[in-house]
Amino acid sequence: MNVLITGGAGFLGSHLGDWFLQRGHTVYALDIASDAKIRHNLENTRFHFIPDSFLNVDILENLVAKCELIYHLGAVVGVEHYVSDPYKVLNVNVNGIQNILRLAHRYDRKVVFSSTSEVYGRNPKVPWKEDDDRVLGSTRIDRWCYSTSKAVGEHFCLAYKKMGLRTVILRYFNVYGPRLDAVDKGRVVTIFLGQLLRGQPITVVGNGSQTRSFTYSEDAIEATAQAGLRKEADGEIFNIGTDVETSMLELANVMRDVFGGPAKIEFVPQQKIYGNSYEDIQRRVPDVTRMKTILGVTPKVGLREGLRRTIEWFKESEGWIEPKPAKKAAAKKPMVKKAPFASTKKAKV
Ligand code: UDP
Repeated sequence: MNVLITGGAGFLGSHLGDWFLQRGHTVYALDIASDAKIRHNLENTRFHFIPDSFLNVDILENLVAKCELIYHLGAVVGVEHYVSDPYKVLNVNVNGIQNILRLAHRYDRKVVFSSTSEVYGRNPKVPWKEDDDRVLGSTRIDRWCYSTSKAVGEHFCLAYKKMGLRTVILRYFNVYGPRLDAVDKGRVVTIFLGQLLRGQPITVVGNGSQTRSFTYSEDAIEATAQAGLRKEADGEIFNIGTDVETSMLELANVMRDVFGGPAKIEFVPQQKIYGNSYEDIQRRVPDVTRMKTILGVTPKVGLREGLRRTIEWFKESEGWIEPKPAKKAAAKKPMVKKAPFASTKKAKV
């Protein structure tokens, strides 16, 4: 089978490509990101890297025409983007899914859409089932633009489902593992990792009581693949994650322990890291019954083992960065808002 993966050179996309290649399929990876995470596949004749954007409709149509199954994983992701360039988040994410669905409908291709646990916002009633409420803050808080952009994508998927298209929506819960972003970038695991590698204090936001359910990449990828392959998944929404809840303080302690060494833990106010256009989520826990019963996937890799593998990978790979002089390694400055089009940051599109 030919499988199209947008964001195919990214963290999840590269692992998903590996999964399908290992099982004899042909993979088309569409991505504007560098080929650093897929270099090991570039010589494979069943792997095709298209360094372009899903906003380029001509290229996209050509790919949709030849692929039976489409994974739309490409998006602008990461809290740093939500607070620094909300325009880009909304523009790329909302227009991207429409391009995919329009073409998939024309060629009758199944679409698996990567959504996010962010769609539940800060609903305090955990664990969240797929049909639970979305509880979000004001539109003045930029953090919510990502949640909204993905929820719009979900609505489009459900609207196309009514028009006969096979769609599946996956809401990922803090997936981590080898190839995650880069140290210091993106998510809490890689931020802590950068600090550990440089021997700096680990910056825990607030008092560290806020929780997340960290999902190891291998488990998330198995569920993602099954969502594309199983007919029973068509038309459904799935939480993809684990129901094991971990506080940020606990994460910092486990990472320090697994990494080895004497790193200090420093508690920092939220504003110091993100400025005013951010709001943290206190608890984030999925109900994963549907993932287990319909997709047949039960998470296997626990936090300590997953972190051990992740840290090992970063230590051995290009993810490692050189230590910086101590005075430059001080706490991060708050992010500054930029005007539309001003961003030079590379997004995973
Ligand atoms: N966080 C932290 N220290 C940091 C960066 C993040 O304690 O240096 C916390 C953040 O406040 C949040 C959690 O880690 O509660 C997860 O943040 P992340 O950016 O990974 O994404 P989120 O799960 O909020 O989408």
